Amino acid sequence: MTRFHFTFATTILCAVIALTLGNFIFLAAVILVFLLVVGLGVAIPQLHFFGDFICRGDSTKKCVALTFDDGPDPRSTPQLLALLSERGVPATFFCIGQRVEAQPQLAAQIRRGGHLLENHSYAHSHFTNFYSTARLEKELLQTQAVIKEAAGFTPGYFRPPVGLSNPNTFRAAQNAKLKVIGWSIRSLDTVIKNPQAIVARIKRGLHPGAIILLHDGNIPAEKLLATVKSLLDTLHELGYEIVRLDELLK
Ligand SMILES: [Zn+2]
Repeated sequence: MTRFHFTFATTILCAVIALTLGNFIFLAAVILVFLLVVGLGVAIPQLHFFGDFICRGDSTKKCVALTFDDGPDPRSTPQLLALLSERGVPATFFCIGQRVEAQPQLAAQIRRGGHLLENHSYAHSHFTNFYSTARLEKELLQTQAVIKEAAGFTPGYFRPPVGLSNPNTFRAAQNAKLKVIGWSIRSLDTVIKNPQAIVARIKRGLHPGAIILLHDGNIPAEKLLATVKSLLDTLHELGYEIVRLDELLK
């Protein structure tokens, strides 16, 4: 039973009690609390409200995984790959199917660099959370096919756009044989302007087994590189090892 099912069952029970008592203020409060809790469950992956949202790895080892969303982007991915290669650091890229289709050579380059190339939906619609299970499953499978075609690799992980989820997310992912991945540290790199401030935010939340959310799409290459360089130095100074997501989740 998921937390959502438990909340739903409790709400029905409370609603029946409210109706039996004829107390409509209690009923309204029950409905309001239900909507609030479900809203939080949709927006916060770490609540694991609808299913097994994987947001962190093994906390007994001082390892973290860097994850880059929204690529591949010809304006930043090649420079990022060059930096990762120079530092010998593996990463995990949650790529958008449409962008992989437009830049198959970049997708192949990500894989050749020894990184993971995973599923971040086909179109990255902000309405993905309103999709039926069948529609989302179709998008996921379409993205799997595009990535396989471009990079010869079938992803095992799916990160929903904007991290929003509902029961359909987990059903569709399970049907497409994908595990749903969130994060434990959101860098807010698309919002915070200063790379040092982004790294300081990550440092504050740092913990063994962290999954760090960064972006490699719609972000100026200079800012991305400055952030990643500083982050790699900080992680090195603090004695953290950077591993791929599959390694972190072993
Ligand atoms: Zn995204």
